Amino acid sequence: MVKETGFYDTLGVNPKATPDEIKKAYRKLALKYHPDKNPNEGEKFKLISQAYEVLSEPKKRDLYDQGGEQAIKDGGMGGGGSPMDIFNMFFGGGGRMPQRDRRGKNVVHQLTVTLEEMYNGTKRKLALQKNVICGKCEGYGGKKGALQTCGSCKGRGVEIKVQQIGPGMIQQIQTMCAECQGEGERFNSKDRCKTCNGHKVERKKKILEVHIDKGMKGGQKIPFHGEGDQEPGLEPGDVVIVLDQQDHPVYQRQEDDLHMKMNIKLVEALCGFKKTIRTLDGRVLIITSSPGKVVKANDVRCVHNEGMPIHKDPYDRGQLIIQFQVEFPDKHWLPEHLLPQLEALLPPRDEQLISDDMEEVDLKEMDRSYSQQKSGSSGGGKPSFEDIDDDEGGGHGVQCQQQ
Ligand SMILES: [Zn+2]
Ligand SMILES: [Zn+2]
Repeated sequence: MVKETGFYDTLGVNPKATPDEIKKAYRKLALKYHPDKNPNEGEKFKLISQAYEVLSEPKKRDLYDQGGEQAIKDGGMGGGGSPMDIFNMFFGGGGRMPQRDRRGKNVVHQLTVTLEEMYNGTKRKLALQKNVICGKCEGYGGKKGALQTCGSCKGRGVEIKVQQIGPGMIQQIQTMCAECQGEGERFNSKDRCKTCNGHKVERKKKILEVHIDKGMKGGQKIPFHGEGDQEPGLEPGDVVIVLDQQDHPVYQRQEDDLHMKMNIKLVEALCGFKKTIRTLDGRVLIITSSPGKVVKANDVRCVHNEGMPIHKDPYDRGQLIIQFQVEFPDKHWLPEHLLPQLEALLPPRDEQLISDDMEEVDLKEMDRSYSQQKSGSSGGGKPSFEDIDDDEGGGHGVQCQQQ
């Protein structure tokens, strides 16, 4: 007893029709209504193809018989392929299945690489577990010709169970047949391939050699064509290695440039210096700031051609960009009586006009907990300076208490 007969009616066959009868009916109608012959009957051709797509496959036909068109939609089956695909499959016109069905999935693997490795280039070996077509049975799964229709699901590959989930409510659950793993066919245990246990593929270890060229970048993809899992009848997908660049303690990379921070002493900032830098290939560079030239905090200088090698043109390199940070001497580093001598050497101060109507206040070490407490709210983290009000008498500032 079938739920609906719509698809059978479309093909003009009885719900008890054999697969052969369905095939014949489709063939006749599809040729008659093919868009080439009958351009005005495109919709009819589509309906015929849809009906055939469902009724020609035991799994889908079964689902349709039990649950009607809605069950096909709910099951995510049908409606997918274009009517021309079915027509071509059936009549061999072009004969090809759509590309997406013939290729296995790509496998993406992230490989962490140091900046040194990207600078100098290297080879890395990667062990990969993958499915390989069983060599013993050549992917057939057992003795040739011994494949039998699965007795458990009668070749449908699925089992349909009806479950009572409440008063007057039943739920239809479709599960893959465990006996044949959804294949609809299986081998007797004596005919099954002993090597792959009928699975047609074996899990094998494969070593991939990944060549990291000089100048390659984080996020760069290195494909290994056809190294994905093998499956009978499928072209294997690719293994795609994606480089993940590790952070470096000294250098930050920006495209082909390398950035670094360098600490210099106040004396070096004012009186010039010679400093050394170890490159990513182990050379030592000497950089010089000539005496009399002042390097200020956050000043930036660069060295041409000492950045990262350019990929595929490794004799050319980006820039090395150095940002200087000036370390001041500790408190009270110079006895007070010597300060006038230093001052005499430094550029003069700006004059400050001081008058009696100004207020003298204490300049103290910054006390973060004091600011936090005063600004109230923010528990933990950095102190918030947003409330500071520079206006005179403006009131609620936390920086200086005026008495
Ligand atoms: Zn085998
Ligand atoms: Zn089965």
